Amino acid sequence: MEFKFTMPTEIYFGEEVILKNKEVFSAIGKKALIVTGRNSAKKNGSYDDVKTALTTTGVEHILFDEVEENPSLETIEKGSYIGKINNVDFVIGIGGGSPMDAAKAVAVFIKNPDVNKENIFSSGKLESIPVVAVATTSGTGSEVTQYSIVTSIKEKTKKNLGQSIFPKVAFLDSRYTYDLPYDITVNTAIDAFTHLVEGYLNTNSTYMSDIYGEKGFELFKYCFERLVNKELTVEFRNKVMMASALAGIQIAQNGTSLPHGMGYPLTYFKGLPHGLANGVLTMEYLKSFKDKTKIERMLNILGFSNLEELESIFNRLIDVKIEITEDEINEYSKNFFANKKKLENHTEEVSLEDIINIYRKSLLKN
Ligand code: NAP
Ligand code: FE
Repeated sequence: MEFKFTMPTEIYFGEEVILKNKEVFSAIGKKALIVTGRNSAKKNGSYDDVKTALTTTGVEHILFDEVEENPSLETIEKGSYIGKINNVDFVIGIGGGSPMDAAKAVAVFIKNPDVNKENIFSSGKLESIPVVAVATTSGTGSEVTQYSIVTSIKEKTKKNLGQSIFPKVAFLDSRYTYDLPYDITVNTAIDAFTHLVEGYLNTNSTYMSDIYGEKGFELFKYCFERLVNKELTVEFRNKVMMASALAGIQIAQNGTSLPHGMGYPLTYFKGLPHGLANGVLTMEYLKSFKDKTKIERMLNILGFSNLEELESIFNRLIDVKIEITEDEINEYSKNFFANKKKLENHTEEVSLEDIINIYRKSLLKN
């Protein structure tokens, strides 16, 4: 039972948590940069709640609302420039994983004026100014992880910024997700589920991290049924948001493994939303395990007797055709195989051939 467990983020979960705890912002600083996407935060009530909390507690704020899906280093530089010239002392990321991850990276760039998109990956360990995260998808779990996944156009891939940036505070109010369209609800829920799976079936998993994984699977037993029946009730929104946060806490300890690493080129080159990119690979990844002991424990908690039952849920939720060639699969596999970190997180030895096979069986089905 030896383990290390870190969760430095202060988590507020529940209805109207921002307005009920508005002094949290003024305790962090006097001037904030709000980092968000182009539209959704202004429509789902999250931006209004943050603005009200800041205004009533006397915290000045500037808005940067240009974060695209899978944020690029170019956008991050632009956001950090606005933060720097306005002398902000903290950053508030509002949105799905893209704005939250961008906010974390912006906070690093603001703290370290010499850092830019060219030298960030060779800069060593850096500090950031404080980050507050407000999640509006359920999701990436980014509100409780140290990761910031960015798009490097130069390297033609998505990658972790390589810094540890746990938000100081995370606000989770599922009201912001009530109007999340069905397809985004499914894709983001699948992302949360794959975090649970990859964090659970992980070399780094511990007694403590498994508690989060197993509680998450228990919530997914409920959530999968509601997802396939399209019963997106308030209870569903709360439970999937909770599952996503538990999954985030788990991957903050253990990291992700094959589906996440293998999914990045499907997002970069084929435009697949992140959750879906992991989701299309998950079943073949699970089938590839030689030792299925822990998978069986997971299936049991999910209420399934075998992998085929989970697969039939996946087939109902995921319906995507990807145009891909054997050459592309070989190329993605080679690049992924060079990513030793993700391979180390996987509990079994895999060869390049195994990786090619997971891609082939997942993507060349018909
Ligand atoms: P996202 O890219 O943040 O957002 C996807 C879309 O959903 C956007 O069009 C966004 O609109 C919209 N949206 C967000 N919240 C909404 C709401 N409440 N109602 C209606 N529409 C809403 O999606 P995501 O899946 O949450 O994040 C994906 C990113 O997170 C990827 O870059 C992925 O690599 C990363 N990720 C990070 C971690 C981590 O630990 N840091 C883990 C997994 C994934 P707007 O643009 O208008 O806001
Ligand atoms: Fe993810």
